Amino acid sequence: MEVKDCVFCQIGLGKIPAKVVYQDSNVLAFLDINPSNKGHVLVIPKNHFSDLVEIPEHELKPFMAAVKRIAEGVLRGTKAEGFNIVLNNSKAAGQAIPHLHLHVIPRFTGDDLQIGSWRHLKYESEEEMNKLRDSISANVPAGEPEFPREEKSELPKPKVKRRSKKEVSFIKREIEKA
Ligand code: AMP
Ligand code: ZN
Repeated sequence: MEVKDCVFCQIGLGKIPAKVVYQDSNVLAFLDINPSNKGHVLVIPKNHFSDLVEIPEHELKPFMAAVKRIAEGVLRGTKAEGFNIVLNNSKAAGQAIPHLHLHVIPRFTGDDLQIGSWRHLKYESEEEMNKLRDSISANVPAGEPEFPREEKSELPKPKVKRRSKKEVSFIKREIEKA
């Protein structure tokens, strides 16, 4: 699929409006227009990958680090008690938009939401969306400035147990006998 035909790429480029709760150079997060619970956020890599299989591993590291922080923003910004993270991978699994995205869905005790047979609610107004956007966005914690370089750790040398002279001569005798 080309960028021009992809709704989420178009949101990333600012050509289709969205209620953005977070963005950095790799990742964009915005309110799902038909939320399963109010404050339901979609997190996408800015680069187009159709699904989890397509994204290279090195891009997953900043992506998942952002997901963690965005989820905290959703949790605190909606005053939820928990959240589900859902990834529908491929059409058969219910993926409607072929640009990799994670759903972060705030959860409340007794909210009656069945993950798997999704419901889609409607926001009452743009104002309601704006409030949630601002609240979630304000609650996304600051990220670590850079991933710490993986330092080559000196593995501790394995301890070699020295055998006593008695043990050595016993072993020698056993070998000779054999
Ligand atoms: P999936 O079924 O996993 O592909 O989820 C796609 C999600 O994208 C659905 O929950 C839709 O409500 C949501 N969606 C579709 N178009 C937009 C849009 N323009 N802005 C925000 N969310 C959207
Ligand atoms: Zn795309």
